[in-house]
Amino acid sequence: MSHPYASELATGLAAVRAAARICQTVQATITPEALEKKDLSPVTIADFASQGVICHAIGESFPADPIIAEEDSQELHQPENARFLEQISSLIQQDYRTASADEICRWIDRGGANTFSQRFWTLDPIDGTKGFLRREQYAISLALIIDGQIALGILGCPNLATRNPRGHSLFYAIAGRGAFSTTLEPGAEITPIRVTQSTDPALARFCESFESGHSAHDESAMIAEKLRITASPVRMDSQAKYATVAAGEADVYLRLPTKAGYYEKIWDHAGGVLIVQEAGGTVTDLQGQPLNFSCGRELRENRGVIVTNGPLHPAVLAAAQSIIAQKAANQPVNR
Ligand code: AMP
Ligand code: MG
Repeated sequence: MSHPYASELATGLAAVRAAARICQTVQATITPEALEKKDLSPVTIADFASQGVICHAIGESFPADPIIAEEDSQELHQPENARFLEQISSLIQQDYRTASADEICRWIDRGGANTFSQRFWTLDPIDGTKGFLRREQYAISLALIIDGQIALGILGCPNLATRNPRGHSLFYAIAGRGAFSTTLEPGAEITPIRVTQSTDPALARFCESFESGHSAHDESAMIAEKLRITASPVRMDSQAKYATVAAGEADVYLRLPTKAGYYEKIWDHAGGVLIVQEAGGTVTDLQGQPLNFSCGRELRENRGVIVTNGPLHPAVLAAAQSIIAQKAANQPVNR
């Protein structure tokens, strides 16, 4: 397909595929004992290595483009983390034999942009770190933002079985050109994806974060009750939730604030938002406003995220607003 971002898409897809291979290699090493001990080293290593290879690939093809990514190499320079840097380097050196540890840190730090610019990328090298450790859902999320609008969104979802029972799903969208699914293996068939056409809120299948610290489960249960939804929510980590709505496997994704003063991070949403929108769905905050990707690292102008197939949006938004208002009215007033 010829489109204005063909070369950005090719670079982004290859980079996300390379990062996904690293993540899958590392995830395969997680033992039940490590899980029991809540050992964070696998996710730490895969996270930095993923950011390193993706930022390097973008830097090579688009040297002028800033990248707002989640990680920076500062903690890798602490003596106690030397073993992490060694492991990250040896993973990356399987593909880039001559890359030194210092060079790899510089690749990681290409993701250190903090402020909005006319054209930039945003990256979550492993979104859903807890899902990664549980060997459940996680995503590698990359997006290109131009003039504050998402131009390109890519989500690698190694464990999401939308496409085939093995997982290995890869989703992408180009503004104005649609949303597609394929697999992490290059050369696989590319299929356009569409949200559902559901119009009855009571039959909606909704998903939300696995972690109650990231989205308020009690409030989503009240919203579901108000809409007379009887099905239980599907709880999963990462932007795999956006992919699930975009591919028509759920109708709604609710992300409800848990903590005053927390702002959503742009890399937790940009890739997924465009994929849902291009698949025909709608994404707003709790005010019904679009997410504003022009404020730097955070979605400073938005609270909460409501994702639907489109036709369900007005009913879901109204129910969410009424439950949030009810909750706020019941809060004890601090004097
Ligand atoms: P999820 O996989 O849906 O649980 O979302 C994972 C993301 O939640 C992480 O990448 C964090 O950046 C983000 N996060 C951390 N704390 C919060 C919070 N209090 N509210 C919303 N998101 C959060
Ligand atoms: Mg994240």
